[in-house]
Amino acid sequence: MKPIQQSFSVPFQYQVFFTEKLFHPSNTILVDLIKSKQPPKVYFVIDSGVADAHPELITQIRQYAQHYAHQFTLCAEPLLVPGGEQAKNDTDYLQQIVEATHLYGIDRHSYIIAVGGGAVLDMVGFASAVSHRGIRHIRIPTTVLSQNDSGVGVKNSINYFGKKNYLGTFAPPFAVINDFDFLSTLDERDWRGGISEAIKVALIKDAAFFAQMEEQAEALADREPEPMQSLIYRCAEMHLEHIGGGDPFEMGSSRPLDFGHWAAHKLEQLTNYSIRHGEAVAIGIALDVTYSYLKGMITESALHRVIHLMKTLGFTLYVPELKQEEILKGLGEFREHLGGELTIMLLEEIGKGVEIHEMDSALIREAISQLEVFEKMDLEV
Ligand code: NAD
Repeated sequence: MKPIQQSFSVPFQYQVFFTEKLFHPSNTILVDLIKSKQPPKVYFVIDSGVADAHPELITQIRQYAQHYAHQFTLCAEPLLVPGGEQAKNDTDYLQQIVEATHLYGIDRHSYIIAVGGGAVLDMVGFASAVSHRGIRHIRIPTTVLSQNDSGVGVKNSINYFGKKNYLGTFAPPFAVINDFDFLSTLDERDWRGGISEAIKVALIKDAAFFAQMEEQAEALADREPEPMQSLIYRCAEMHLEHIGGGDPFEMGSSRPLDFGHWAAHKLEQLTNYSIRHGEAVAIGIALDVTYSYLKGMITESALHRVIHLMKTLGFTLYVPELKQEEILKGLGEFREHLGGELTIMLLEEIGKGVEIHEMDSALIREAISQLEVFEKMDLEV
């Protein structure tokens, strides 16, 4: 008997909103998204770091739900989970959400809404994707990094076997709502950290965006809201274009949006997550840009522009863990996570990435030593 050929495609679409005062009753973005004849159940999971910084948040959510009681119902009190990697490292939180779906009868026409940083969104996204094989999931990202990158994409995960993002799925969200008001309470490290993902996309795809960041570097470092909002918008837009235009579920071996990430993921692990994702990505980018220079792929002036921008923004470019032999294992683990041939993005010029399939260990070590020098020196461009 000949094999039966099966083939279908499933169209995915979702909107990414940009707003302020999301839970003010006059803001109808959320209710417009979820209202239906049969008021759906809604379950909130909130990053406790966000709840601490915004003590009025839970009351506002309750009042919003009361105001729109005929449109949707909160099926339980919001669940608070710790922010940061703890949410992804400890499976108890995943378990609590799965249990809630069982206890409160949260079905595939209900909504699980996550409010928080990238780590909490990753974990809640995973819980939503595996419960009943996929419950509608709305993300409300609250950090720069999650608003411009992690929260707008299609991936979710938890860490497992001590490895980043080992368990996870590709599951597009029902919608994403970025409320800029959350950003005002971020600490310095998280305000700055997310900018690394914007530098990343600009370097591999958009020289003009990179130049815009250079122009606005001081305003960004001074935490001016407007340059940050336009950075987030452009960065989110580029991530969405990339995901929609190519290989959303990463079937191939290429992951251009993971420029700088092979070392970053390993550094997060080697520093026991004391370095945050965005900070590690900045170091990973600086490393791969320096490597690109040492390999003769970009000019010294391009290298200096990147390093100068990062230093103006206040990024640390070198940590001692870079000198551990283990760091090189990051390459193998990066390949293993995706499968197939090792594919690493390097730079050909600012705004243009190029993929390569092997890296020279001696040159990586040289690039690391160079980062140590950059960290100490003042660099004029
Ligand atoms: P984070 O989630 O680790 O949060 C950092 C800290 O900020 C936490 O303590 C949190 O409680 C706190 N916080 C969050 N919002 C706040 C606010 N508005 N005010 C005050 N404190 C607040 O940091 P992140 O940079 O958003 O996310 C990093 C995570 O995202 C990593 O786990 C990384 O692997 C993941 N990520 C996922 C993808 C993806 O495609 N799914 C892409 C990139 C990164």
